Amino acid sequence: MRIASVFGIEISITLSWIFVFALVAWSLAEPSGPLHRTDLGVAARIILGVIGSVLFFASVLVHELAHSLVARARGIGVRGITLFIFGGVSQFEDEVGDAPGEAWISAVGPLTSLVVGAAFFGCAQALGPSSTVGVLFAYLAYVNVLLAIFNLIPAYPLDGGRVLHSLLWRISGSRERATSVTVTVGRILAGAIVAFGIFEALAYNVGAGLWTTLIGWFLLQAGSAEQSRIAMSRAMRGRSAGELAVSPDFAVSADARANEALEAFRRTRLRALPVILGDRVLGLISYDAVSRLPDDELDQNYVTGLMTHVEDLDEVAATTSADDAIKHLAKSDAHAVALTNSHGIAVGVVTPESVMRWLGAGSS
Ligand SMILES: [Zn+2]
Repeated sequence: MRIASVFGIEISITLSWIFVFALVAWSLAEPSGPLHRTDLGVAARIILGVIGSVLFFASVLVHELAHSLVARARGIGVRGITLFIFGGVSQFEDEVGDAPGEAWISAVGPLTSLVVGAAFFGCAQALGPSSTVGVLFAYLAYVNVLLAIFNLIPAYPLDGGRVLHSLLWRISGSRERATSVTVTVGRILAGAIVAFGIFEALAYNVGAGLWTTLIGWFLLQAGSAEQSRIAMSRAMRGRSAGELAVSPDFAVSADARANEALEAFRRTRLRALPVILGDRVLGLISYDAVSRLPDDELDQNYVTGLMTHVEDLDEVAATTSADDAIKHLAKSDAHAVALTNSHGIAVGVVTPESVMRWLGAGSS
């Protein structure tokens, strides 16, 4: 859900974030919460809680903006920033191409949090550390320092993991080796965090323990996702978009009717197939479009009347890199990309299924 745009960078929130926002506001408003304002009335504590939660997430946002602005200054497109249950994440359009770039883009986040923390601390001192706002600011100073330290844990996808990766990359000269070492270190740390969380929950604090376990679990998942993403881009290297296309043997002829398409879906076990006339791709027929028809109409409808026309698909040259085709596929609303020959004529279609099948079949 988009909420704002800062410096031309789109800011989005997820539903889980709204829940966490309320949780943070509520815990700050609690008389027994970290602010300890037992002297204040309910309304004043609620206002303080909401302001605290806004400033807390503003701190997270400033941290992410720092990443995004440094990335943009280094020529990397920024897709946007999303706030979610564990904080924030910046999405970039490309991978960082060099180790120093990765180091700067990653390190600037925690550094910014330290600066923001110092600013809150300074304000707290100026306002008097025991005044209502002073207590809140002192707490936010503490939270920002914590944010910086947490993000420096060297586990993907945390900033510390990326800084570690850039250092190993610089030292070894090999991006791949750096990645596999970083993923392993991250796994060990994430496993240790999960183990500590379970111990914490059993030994003294169930709530905090579960939260720690959840964070460790999230890091484990994110580390695995990063690893498969890297394995995939490695498999894609030197491959062309054409290799990822749905096999021409599976194509449905333009004069076929819906029942014949249904038969083709059964035979190929794919849910989207190209519709062809000779060598030319006219469109993409999906299982969903065909299966919506009543049984007695299956032999009356031609696939050309049910398909998505090729003009409505994103197009890339069949000779472009496989990696590039996948980037287009990821952005495609139709979940398909048309491949064109040197004359601009569509000759194939790449779908998520065809990519998975290609990966499963091995890239040899
Ligand atoms: Zn960060």
